[in-house]
Amino acid sequence: MVPRPDHNISRANISENAVKVLYRLRNSGFEAYLVGGGVRDLLLGREPKDFDVATDALPEQVKQVFRNCRLIGRRFRLAHVFFGREIIEVATFRSMGDGSADDSRKVENGMILRDNVYGTIEEDAQRRDFTINALYYNIGDFSVVDYADGLTDLNNGVLRLLGDPEQRYREDPVRMLRAVRFAGKLGFRIDASCETPLSSMVSLLDDVPAARLFEEVLKLFLGGAALETFEKLRHYDMFGHLFPATEEALSHEDHDFPITFVNRGLDNTDSRIRDGKPVTPAFLFAVLLWEPVRLRAAAYEADGMPPIPALQEAGRDVLAEQAQRVLIPKRISYPMRDIWQMQPRFLSRGGKRPQRLITHPKFRAAYDFLLLRAQAGEAEMELAEWWTDFQKGNPQEQGQMAGQERRGRSGRRRRRRPRKAKPSDE
Ligand code: ATP
Ligand code: MG
Repeated sequence: MVPRPDHNISRANISENAVKVLYRLRNSGFEAYLVGGGVRDLLLGREPKDFDVATDALPEQVKQVFRNCRLIGRRFRLAHVFFGREIIEVATFRSMGDGSADDSRKVENGMILRDNVYGTIEEDAQRRDFTINALYYNIGDFSVVDYADGLTDLNNGVLRLLGDPEQRYREDPVRMLRAVRFAGKLGFRIDASCETPLSSMVSLLDDVPAARLFEEVLKLFLGGAALETFEKLRHYDMFGHLFPATEEALSHEDHDFPITFVNRGLDNTDSRIRDGKPVTPAFLFAVLLWEPVRLRAAAYEADGMPPIPALQEAGRDVLAEQAQRVLIPKRISYPMRDIWQMQPRFLSRGGKRPQRLITHPKFRAAYDFLLLRAQAGEAEMELAEWWTDFQKGNPQEQGQMAGQERRGRSGRRRRRRPRKAKPSDE
């Protein structure tokens, strides 16, 4: 136990709402602690992404304390306390149980499918993943409680699973991804005891439901260290279990633009996050899957399909295959397809089409995508620059630019369409 004067966690750095939740639980007669990433990041002097609370109150009791509260989760029953957009997650102390299968715990081939056996705080600490994630901040006396020697690992920059690493990975293979995620984000190293088993265990990722992997992949790539994390995922052969078609395409590349393209895309994502700018998951996933889509489209074109339908078919194929591993929800896959399908349309620079194209709701994302392709050497920089200028122009200038194209400035794309056909986009 580390008393208040000997650590740097101050209530002023904890979200106001989390502090409210902690006090309200305590005033209702329960124990209440901040736990997990919130404590870890504050101790490291970083800004936590979210705040998780652990308590001895049962989920139903938590619900009685807070009006703005919903109980969620089957696999893992939790209370969510809502404050506008902020959600404070409140979990009841859990134990690992004695391994006996009962109603509250479901285990299959060593993998925990349901885990609702409640316990003491000491037991709760033991069932957490890494020692640095098993630190508790006690709102009762403002001390930090360390049951797993997490502070030592925190100071040494080490990720160490609690308990037997192989068993812990088998219980929940997502812990392998979490190891890589924290290593990338915090710049920590994975202790040898936890790193060595990885190579023989990564294939367990194939047993994780594709919907859960989607959530994890988002966290992997939107944590501010996407590039670093991507390299680690490939290093540990995990990437291929998440994005098999991309891994296949990258490992057989005969030019270096596919990897340059992904690297630059991830680097962009990281700098946007650093600058506090929004990042869209659709753009990120469109980047990650572009190379297989591009190759598949080229194969369709080689079979005589025109470019736009070829890209449509290829996008459909790759997304269907990808859904077996990481399930990308439609709200994200639809804009991804827009981004891809707009790429060949950028080639038509004459007539009314450019002005129509820039009104498309996904134009900006698709243009950023084109720019990235050009920077990676996969598309013409001249084309990307033309679109940069075109957007800056007023309608008259834009008309002029498109008119010049029609007169064949480049001499390349002069195909005139029959007059009578009404121009349509599809
Ligand atoms: P961040 O929120 O910054 O991504 P975090 O460590 O808070 O990191 P969460 O997913 O928010 O991660 O989980 C909160 C805490 O719950 C963790 O710190 C850890 O103690 C515990 N935990 C989460 N996932 C697992 C898991 N798969 N196995 C064991 N414990 C876990
Ligand atoms: Mg967290």
